[in-house]
Amino acid sequence: QQDSLSTAATSAVFSRSAVKNQTAVEFRRVSKSFGPHQVIKQVNLSVSSGEVIAVCGPSGSGKSTLIRLINHLETLSEGEIFINQQPTSRLNGAALRQLRTHIGFVFQQFNLYSHLTAQDNVSLALIKVHGWKREDARKKAQTLLERVGLKDRALHYPEQLSGGQQQRVAIARALVTDPSIILFDEPTSALDPEMIGEVLLVMRELAQSGITMIVVTHEMSFARGIADRVVFMDGGEILEEAEPEAFFTRPAHPRAQRFLQKVL
Ligand code: ADP
Ligand code: MG
Repeated sequence: QQDSLSTAATSAVFSRSAVKNQTAVEFRRVSKSFGPHQVIKQVNLSVSSGEVIAVCGPSGSGKSTLIRLINHLETLSEGEIFINQQPTSRLNGAALRQLRTHIGFVFQQFNLYSHLTAQDNVSLALIKVHGWKREDARKKAQTLLERVGLKDRALHYPEQLSGGQQQRVAIARALVTDPSIILFDEPTSALDPEMIGEVLLVMRELAQSGITMIVVTHEMSFARGIADRVVFMDGGEILEEAEPEAFFTRPAHPRAQRFLQKVL
């Protein structure tokens, strides 16, 4: 009973009609520990609806953990994360599933189901979680595959697709529930260089669609050309937040300066 009550309460709040310029994601003094090891330390971060954030920083600085906390792939240890102004740390069961349908996630390694076609990878959640009829779900999957430039690949299995194509299927899958927020964890890091462009192109179009995007990336062309804001992390803390141009030309924090010297 508690589940259905909280679902009713949250379904309106998490709706994708999140109002432009409202806060879509807010971290308030969020910490995360794995055993004795605190890997996110008292992080505060506010992301507006429709904003595109690039998160960068050295390996092990906590970037993946930060975004995994948003859709509860990890649970936080302290603080609170608000999605569309709603606290989320106590959600469970149906309310948590509801939250997740409003937050898409794209992994570095695509994580497609190898035994399913592109179309079935994309439509699976609609059928299994949302009770759609297979035929309707496949139609929607087809629309999304067209949107990422894979109209003719619907019946291909992952192993028949290039890395760039697989990642575009994964993006289509992340969009299938019409999320208001989409999270990317180094989406181009596993790709051969010649395939990075096609994925960035899809991400650029998404960024212009008004969806809220938080992208962990070392892809400076994305951070510089597409993001509204860059968040720099090191040692589990956000050390700098700035507009891309300012961040790349005049980073303020010494550790950001050192990081940029290495990657640029
Ligand atoms: P990044 O994505 O910036 O490379 P991560 O968020 O993956 O950093 O990791 C931050 C720190 O948390 C690292 O020290 C990592 O070893 C540790 N860590 C991440 N996930 C786990 C886990 N499931 N168990 C224990 N330690 C973890
Ligand atoms: Mg990572």
